[in-house]
Amino acid sequence: MSRIFDIVVVGGGMAGFSAAAELAETHKVCVVEREPQAGYHSTGRSAATFVPSYGPPAIQALARASEAFFEAAPNDFAAAPLLSPRGEVMMIGPGDEAHMAEGQALGLRPLPLDELKQKIPLMKTDALTAALSDDHARDLDVDLLLQGYVKLFRARGGTVLTKAEVTGFTRHYGAWQVQTSDGDLSSSMVVNAAGAWATTIAGLAKAQAIEVTPKRRSAVLLDLPESANVDHWPLCFGAGETFYFKPMGGKLMLSPADATPVEPHDAWADDMALAEAVEKFHNVIDFEVTHIGHTWGGLRSFAADGNPVVGFDEQVENFFWLAGQGGYGIQTAPALSRLSAALIDGRQIPDDIAAQGLEAASISPARFAN
Ligand SMILES: Cc1cc2nc3c(=O)[nH]c(=O)nc-3n(C[C@H](O)[C@H](O)[C@H](O)COP(=O)(O)OP(=O)(O)OC[C@H]3O[C@@H](n4cnc5c(N)ncnc54)[C@H](O)[C@@H]3O)c2cc1C
Repeated sequence: MSRIFDIVVVGGGMAGFSAAAELAETHKVCVVEREPQAGYHSTGRSAATFVPSYGPPAIQALARASEAFFEAAPNDFAAAPLLSPRGEVMMIGPGDEAHMAEGQALGLRPLPLDELKQKIPLMKTDALTAALSDDHARDLDVDLLLQGYVKLFRARGGTVLTKAEVTGFTRHYGAWQVQTSDGDLSSSMVVNAAGAWATTIAGLAKAQAIEVTPKRRSAVLLDLPESANVDHWPLCFGAGETFYFKPMGGKLMLSPADATPVEPHDAWADDMALAEAVEKFHNVIDFEVTHIGHTWGGLRSFAADGNPVVGFDEQVENFFWLAGQGGYGIQTAPALSRLSAALIDGRQIPDDIAAQGLEAASISPARFAN
């Protein structure tokens, strides 16, 4: 294998592979991933939803700009639809009414409680004062999307190095020497798509010290009786994102919506947070959870202002950030990867993304420069 590339992408999650696939059309690209397989960390642990009303305005713009791709990905990219109907419901309990306006501003519409009861017969609607809903929220097939990008990347001649940890960088005659546990690579450019480890990778490269903080989120799969028909339930969340549940593979995923800052690591679930989520679940659903099924934890990584960090570093040359996607890195991947490829090639933000109201400055590393 040749060890000389135009671009080395650090991180083989959704961010790394989607950007690498776009870049491989015109560049010689290598994705370097520490784990044995793609998507082992955050990408493989998501709630698999597309909720374009979720997150700060820059994220919403990127999700809207990704929707056309999700809806019409070519057959050789994804042999089945990437999106499928789900819907979402904001459950409003006593004292939560202040969140009504917030939800309505995001486009959620009032849902009469008797209609909610029809959708979810086990819902204790007496415990709620109101509900809002939005049918635009859909399930997103994360594995199909990731494998689509991996396939496209390989078809365009891209190289994948797994079980290879990036351990350091040096600059040599204007090129990057990338040290990995599987030998050195040489490259004109480095893309930092290391998820929870983005700040660590930037440190190794002596790039800007931008804090991208990993925050743990826990989840559990619950088994409900077949008669509950959970497959047809919408995603339901407590007003103010206090907890949520949604169908997943015939079971019900329940999450406390925790966001605990942690060091980057191979995350696991917080049992205490899960116990609190089960209590909240009991308050609104007439079903006694007696058995905790499969649990998992994942890291959602955020910059201080909640926007992603995408663009060239201000301190070292040819070091590109693609990090801080928070809880939205799957639903924004098509737009963020095209946007990254455009900026790396010295072009402007693609028109359709700019038309959604996204400004490069709002996500640029330059906003953290002194
Ligand atoms: C519980 C949960 C629910 C979520 N739900 C949703 C959702 O419904 N919709 C949505 O859009 N998003 C959701 N997200 C967020 C989404 O999963 C992330 O934003 C996205 O996966 C981030 O992708 P990434 O490629 O940046 O990170 P990752 O998938 O973590 O990839 C980064 C990769 O970099 C590698 N790496 C790090 N350091 C090195 C090194 N030194 N050398 C080599 N490789 C290295 C890691 O091994 C890792 O594989 C959720 C996240 C969680 C945890």
